[in-house]
Amino acid sequence: HLLPRAIARARRSDGMIALFYLDVDQFKDINDTFGHLAGDTTLETITQCMRRALPENAVIGRLSGDEFAAFIDDLPPVEDVEDALQGLARNLLAEIAEPFNVQASEVYVTASLGIAIYPQHADNVIDLLRNADAALYSAKKAGGNRHVFYDSALNEAAVERLLMKSRLRRSFERDELLLEYQPKYDLSTGQVTGAEALVRWHSPDIGRIQPSDFIPLAEETNLIVEIGEWVIDRGSADLARWQDTSGSPGRIAINLSLKQLRQRNFFNSVSKIFQRHGIKPTDIEFEITESTLAEDIGRTVQILETLSAYGLQLAIDDFGTGYSSLTALQKFPIKTLKIDRSFVTNAADDANDAAIIRAVIDMSRSLHLDVVAEGIETQAQLEFLRALKCDYGQGMLFGEPMEAESLTRRLLEQQDGTDQHRSLLA
Ligand code: C2E
Ligand code: MG
Ligand code: MG
Repeated sequence: HLLPRAIARARRSDGMIALFYLDVDQFKDINDTFGHLAGDTTLETITQCMRRALPENAVIGRLSGDEFAAFIDDLPPVEDVEDALQGLARNLLAEIAEPFNVQASEVYVTASLGIAIYPQHADNVIDLLRNADAALYSAKKAGGNRHVFYDSALNEAAVERLLMKSRLRRSFERDELLLEYQPKYDLSTGQVTGAEALVRWHSPDIGRIQPSDFIPLAEETNLIVEIGEWVIDRGSADLARWQDTSGSPGRIAINLSLKQLRQRNFFNSVSKIFQRHGIKPTDIEFEITESTLAEDIGRTVQILETLSAYGLQLAIDDFGTGYSSLTALQKFPIKTLKIDRSFVTNAADDANDAAIIRAVIDMSRSLHLDVVAEGIETQAQLEFLRALKCDYGQGMLFGEPMEAESLTRRLLEQQDGTDQHRSLLA
């Protein structure tokens, strides 16, 4: 109500308006970790920060849940306006980042901020809000706790994202996605003891696209559920073939996304796929990231208990990069920890990363969990991990992820002792 009026006034007087669009980073975590009272207090604290950091005549509103907006209409002359707004934005985010107390806990939150200016970035309410929102999205994407000014390239990026999403859907419907496998080695024997299925997209229009670019797109829509189901189906089919011919490569690990796990009929659809291909649930391992575990813990425990009772093994992927709640390791029926590649990369020459790996391996041993080191690229990293008696490893040192046929060849070589990778582990 107030913004269109302010715009009309600015139009008559050649004035400017800055719109701030603010969203709390990981607000859900605060509710989940500290409870709803802490969530409410956080929202109140944020409004106080906005009151304090913004000029007195700023109009401040809450748009929904943890989203706030504010507009300011008596701005300095054009030459100075960006500087002035930069200063305001920095102060505001710094105020919000100050820790505060809720009952006995010290709570620390950050927020992200998108800024759009009338008339420079938009000349009506709808575009101004949309553009501030696009800037906010970009601030979030860059990791949060920052402000971003709108720029027309941001809308182009949004259009590009939409285009990519429809390309991905089309590719999926035309069965153009592929699965590759990365073998997992037993570091004490040098044997392949499993393989991780990794989805691949070669678009006929634009070539190879990395999973780290298209999985998040798929996750923004329900497409990730369909792709995920396809991966389970294809992985099961490949495994059934290996079991019939070249001997089993061991357990196949499949990455799950949160959305998939949250499907009501997830368990049924998984068990149907296994039955159709005649494979046992004990032949499959699901990989779940820490952030997936952190959401809605009660419900997640239930689903994972069901899967585990069925015989499926569960692994925590990229361990060490998210909120590693150690209690989660006890609460969830987890069998395996996969140490994130970032620690392995520097393990051989960075004392801190080495210490983390050592600690994770020790802890896993006490908790009777298996440990897999991800992303082994050099012989030095391999030696370091073997010295610590790390159970399993994967990585480019043993070759790039490969198509099913190549893995078949490698399994056969292993059977007749001509496998070259064994010498790495001699
Ligand atoms: P992730 O599950 O942690 O998979 C390991 C990633 O590390 C893979 O990247 C793999 O190619 C890469 N990698 C393995 N060894 C090395 C190494 O020695 N050096 C380096 N630099 N990289 C190595 P990729 O295939 O690009 O997949 C990225 C992520 O995308 C995966 O991380 C996983 O989170 C996700 N993803 C892949 N396939 C699926 C899928 O079918 N479903 C879901 N939900 N996510 C998937
Ligand atoms: Mg994985
Ligand atoms: Mg990983």
